[in-house]
Amino acid sequence: MINARLAPLAGLAAAAFFITTPACQADEASAAARFSAAKRSEPELVAFLKGMPKGADLHNHAWGAIYAENMLDFAVRNSFYMDPSSLAFSTQPAAGLVPAKDLLSNRPLAAKFLDAVSMRGGYPGLQSGHDHFFSAFRYFVALLDAMGPDQRLAEVIGRAKDQNVQYLELMEEVSSDSATESALNDPPVIDDMEKALAAMRKRFPALLADSKAYLDARDREVSKLLGINAPVTSIASPIPIRYIFTVPRTWPDSRFFAGVAAGMALMQNDGRVAAVNMLAPEDDPISRRNFESQMRMVDFLWSRLGRPNLTLHAGELTLELSPLSAMRSRIRKTVELGHARRIGHGVSIAWEDDLPGLLREMRQKRVAVEICLTSNEGILKVSGDRHPFNLYRAAGIPLTINTDDEGVNRSNLTMEFVKAARSFDLSYRDLKDLARNSLEYSFLPGESLYQAGDYARLRPEFSGVRALNWRPDARAQALLASSEKLTIQVRLERAFSDFEK
Ligand SMILES: [Zn+2]
Repeated sequence: MINARLAPLAGLAAAAFFITTPACQADEASAAARFSAAKRSEPELVAFLKGMPKGADLHNHAWGAIYAENMLDFAVRNSFYMDPSSLAFSTQPAAGLVPAKDLLSNRPLAAKFLDAVSMRGGYPGLQSGHDHFFSAFRYFVALLDAMGPDQRLAEVIGRAKDQNVQYLELMEEVSSDSATESALNDPPVIDDMEKALAAMRKRFPALLADSKAYLDARDREVSKLLGINAPVTSIASPIPIRYIFTVPRTWPDSRFFAGVAAGMALMQNDGRVAAVNMLAPEDDPISRRNFESQMRMVDFLWSRLGRPNLTLHAGELTLELSPLSAMRSRIRKTVELGHARRIGHGVSIAWEDDLPGLLREMRQKRVAVEICLTSNEGILKVSGDRHPFNLYRAAGIPLTINTDDEGVNRSNLTMEFVKAARSFDLSYRDLKDLARNSLEYSFLPGESLYQAGDYARLRPEFSGVRALNWRPDARAQALLASSEKLTIQVRLERAFSDFEK
């Protein structure tokens, strides 16, 4: 029994011994051997990977990232009441409502709530995972609204800290509800997009001023909650965050236009807003009907508003959810008309017309794909060899590992790495490169640490960065001061060295 357990470890140790690498690489071989041994079971892999540096989570909806238990604790702390039939919370007592604290002892009712707002268990009625996921939000949106952005962000950043994450791009609000609504309410008609944009430009100053004050407040308040001295969006923060502005694809065309225009203006105005994204189910009838017109609007606004960063959900579809016609050009149009620098999910890629040509184009444009394994498994029933992970990899498309909605999906970034490692038989070096991708293809500004995207070729000023005793010289310090991306990439490489020592 003991021999059987030790034999694989002994073999790996011997293999590691004969690898001749510079001193700074020797520790990586040892970590790789421990990783290989841990791959035999999920708990061992969790134990190994939870402390492994992971770079960034680039696809994280903060509203879907809150664990249901924390929502419940918030409702109890603030003396909310719950309607046991609708599961809606309110601040005032009324006939038929129960105090939220009763849920702590009323286990069936607590379980009903936890089931409804997460993917943890069975789905009530005949709902699919897809329907259950998207219906979950209606039960907790009011509660999260009451919770406010600071507590939401503190939960997400706190969880990232526990998992050795270096950076986050979070889909969260970037201005007050009232300012957003003023900017988007009664949007201009879009028969003439130039005129519509001119009308929107008049609304920008009030929105931008509100957003600046709003994000300043988040910088102060979230840092205070986390006990961090630096603003939470500052590069001096241990896990800097950036925001991604989101526009629901289910909005009517004119409001969608106004939303994308506002998001791009906010991005131009403030570096804390890193990109614009679109959300809501792609298979929704409105999403399906409006996709082409939405891409034309994004194309127009992108060309008029400084070619901003876009990361767009695309191809979160299967034949169960969509006719084939929608999947034949969904990702291509999102790249070519939508100017997406990253694609969220990209699950339906195999159905695209001229697939080799599309993959070549994505590779040339360095378009990355944000992989969300737990989400795809629960919502689309796509996992293992039903997932296009290996198709993308074989084509040389850069991939990143992400959580999507870690609270609703009962996951976290560690678990996503575990799933990737086990589903696709990845090596420790593969996982490191996925972590490196998350910073290389992030929207952090500045030069990269790596030359031509090759992680083996560090900029000469940083050739020793992986050595444990490395210290930046004057040239390296000047570069660090000039590039936020490089700064976080250096932190990741140093974190690898620390992890592997
Ligand atoms: Zn998403």
